[in-house]
Amino acid sequence: MKLFSFRNLRILLLLIIFITVAIYSKTQLLTSTAWLEPLQVSIYPINGDNHPETARYIQKLDDKSFNDIDDFMLRESKKFNILEEIPIQTSLGSEVFVSPPPPPKGKSKSTLSIMLWSLKLRYWVWKNTPDNKPNLNRVRIFVLYYQAHDNQPLAHSLGLQKGLIGVVHAFANKKQNKQNNIVIAHELLHTVGASDKYDSNNQPVFPDGYADPNRNPRYPQYRAEIMSGHIPTSPTASQMAKNLKRCIIGTKTAREINWANAQN
Ligand SMILES: [Zn+2]
Repeated sequence: MKLFSFRNLRILLLLIIFITVAIYSKTQLLTSTAWLEPLQVSIYPINGDNHPETARYIQKLDDKSFNDIDDFMLRESKKFNILEEIPIQTSLGSEVFVSPPPPPKGKSKSTLSIMLWSLKLRYWVWKNTPDNKPNLNRVRIFVLYYQAHDNQPLAHSLGLQKGLIGVVHAFANKKQNKQNNIVIAHELLHTVGASDKYDSNNQPVFPDGYADPNRNPRYPQYRAEIMSGHIPTSPTASQMAKNLKRCIIGTKTAREINWANAQN
């Protein structure tokens, strides 16, 4: 067997790519969760249904549309000991005209297919980021906007810690902005290590998914822990928070995103 065959060269190249990606991800992870300088968050809108109303909605977006996410992170960071005074800085990036590869669904959802999809997504992000800003301490969130149609549910939003990438599905409706920002904040927190705090029935998990687990009586709660996004009204019922003012970052989420010495 020849050592320098074409096949061996290909395997070597793939190995180099995997190792480079792994080292880069590790550096991104350490930088983004150090909280020594503001984490940059770029938001790129995508017209998800090619609708002219959606296009008009996207035209009207500006940096201010996402201000409540910065306010929320700033307010919550004050409860914990982090060095940087301003935890994140959100800004609106240019519109992107290509949709990201959809994640595997149902039967095709094997570990391998998820791994391949996540590589494909990272390649897509690398190809379709419409600026050249550094990515070591930056989260890129692609928001696909749609018109609401007959209560049709949106696809699942996601946030990946590897690569600091979020893909959010949202409604192109001004009245929906505040709840869209809850979803963006939730996925943003996934990218820096926070885990979901709701169960298979979409109910907040006690105690970590509750904003006020020590409240007596326990129900109704008045605010939502951001990684459940829902305000529990009884052990089996909850409602989605209306805006980020009704959301908090709980102790467990704070620990996960390295707002350590988490005290509240
Ligand atoms: Zn989630």
